[in-house]
Amino acid sequence: MMDLLETLTDELGAVAVLTGADAEEKSQGAWAPMGTPLAIIRPANTQEVSRVMELAHAAGQQVIAWGGKTGLVEGGHADGELALSLERLNAIDSIDPIGGTMSVQAGVPLQKVCEAAEEAGFFFPLDLGARGSATIGGNIATNAGGNRVIRYGMTRALVLGLEAVLADGTIVSSMNRLIKNNAGYDLKQLFIGTEGTLGIVTRAVVRLHSKPLSQDTGLVGVESFENLPKLLRHMEARLGGTLSAYEVMWDGFYQLVTNEPAAGRSPLEGRYPYYALVEAMGGDQEADTPRFEHALMGALEDGIICDAVIAKSDSEREAMWALRDDVGQVLHHYPIFTFDVSLPIADMEMYVAGLEASFDATWPDNKLFVFGHLGDGNLHVIIGVGDDSPATRKAVEQIVYAPLQKIGGSVSAEHGIGLEKRDYLALSRGPEEIALMRLLKKSLDPKGILNPGKVLSPEN
Ligand SMILES: Cc1cc2nc3c(=O)[nH]c(=O)nc-3n(C[C@H](O)[C@H](O)[C@H](O)COP(=O)(O)OP(=O)(O)OC[C@H]3O[C@@H](n4cnc5c(N)ncnc54)[C@H](O)[C@@H]3O)c2cc1C
Repeated sequence: MMDLLETLTDELGAVAVLTGADAEEKSQGAWAPMGTPLAIIRPANTQEVSRVMELAHAAGQQVIAWGGKTGLVEGGHADGELALSLERLNAIDSIDPIGGTMSVQAGVPLQKVCEAAEEAGFFFPLDLGARGSATIGGNIATNAGGNRVIRYGMTRALVLGLEAVLADGTIVSSMNRLIKNNAGYDLKQLFIGTEGTLGIVTRAVVRLHSKPLSQDTGLVGVESFENLPKLLRHMEARLGGTLSAYEVMWDGFYQLVTNEPAAGRSPLEGRYPYYALVEAMGGDQEADTPRFEHALMGALEDGIICDAVIAKSDSEREAMWALRDDVGQVLHHYPIFTFDVSLPIADMEMYVAGLEASFDATWPDNKLFVFGHLGDGNLHVIIGVGDDSPATRKAVEQIVYAPLQKIGGSVSAEHGIGLEKRDYLALSRGPEEIALMRLLKKSLDPKGILNPGKVLSPEN
């Protein structure tokens, strides 16, 4: 290892190789444990990433890609290994204003991508709470979802092409800018959502959308779960394809983010079991706002919702979104376990009731918070039971995951598998699917040096 670090320092410069206290400091502050890597390598471009991998491959050295370290499933855990940070690949290479595409390096934070798109008169719709730190490379590696999947799809739907470095240092440049390109296998899919286990994404071509000319946001109180999907269909039908977010917060989560010590306050007067944040993005503010108001008014008259507040300014809209995004409040109930599950909307009420009953039976003082992208069938479940010992974690995971298999749910809707969920992969994927995943891993990374032990474990 020391030889390898010396060679890397010689070839890439001291700025590219952090060790000791520097490496330890850079490993802090992540949302999930990253371990302490022996060194953090910070290449400046694709060629340098390729060289790092070539040398690591020859030495049989394991390498873990790091973006913004906001991943929530220990996918970047790199204890005692080499972490390869993409932070210096931080440029937006070009924007094609005619084709509506952006060529961007992997280490650019998502927020910068969105701002650059906006400056060019476009819209990059990927949006999530970690937007300031999460990188576009990390978003691609985890196939991130977020708040606008209901309208624009997951990251996969926004990537036209990419460049990746394989385990042996080979650069596969698949920087396609075309919307239609069926010339052979769609190789970018090998690297989207595979959490750095098949290659390191160094650049990407992302698809930009036209900037919406109108935005309408409302927060509503809902009395019963059955009215949540009714409201979703009601709004979809009346908004003519402009519905761009449908986020739901259970009352426990809502109370957490609207009361001290949280900064947010509820814009609704009453208290309800459920709250939905509904947003539409369209092309004509003058026409769209009355349509949005009319749709919500209809829902009120039909008894689907109990109350509604519509944002009258950007700051009111931001305040509504800040409630939904203020997930950090759960840290007051640390230690916590966080989950990101998918399941049919029709099964959600029973599923959450089952969780409440099971947690109350075992840990009467538990704190359960549920919220999520209900329109996508995706719930975030956060539970604090007082301790986070491995045995408690296992017991909590059993309660959350066991019911999913029966109802065709998924143990990971959008955060990925990483290290944290790999023991549960077989609940959501069949043996043939897992065997094919292993075949791909073996073919692309025969020495098993790229993010080893993540997603697939020897036991799966
Ligand atoms: C407050 C908060 C809110 C979030 N909200 C959402 C949400 O709404 N939807 C959602 O989907 N996710 C959400 N996430 C988690 C989400 O996975 C990450 O925020 C983001 O997509 C990861 O980007 P990153 O750059 O931080 O990646 P990292 O955390 O650095 O890495 C994540 C994984 O990708 C790999 N990786 C990173 N960069 C590369 C690369 N260039 N090439 C290959 N592999 C790479 C890593 O090895 C690791 O396995 C949230 C996280 C936080 C903290």
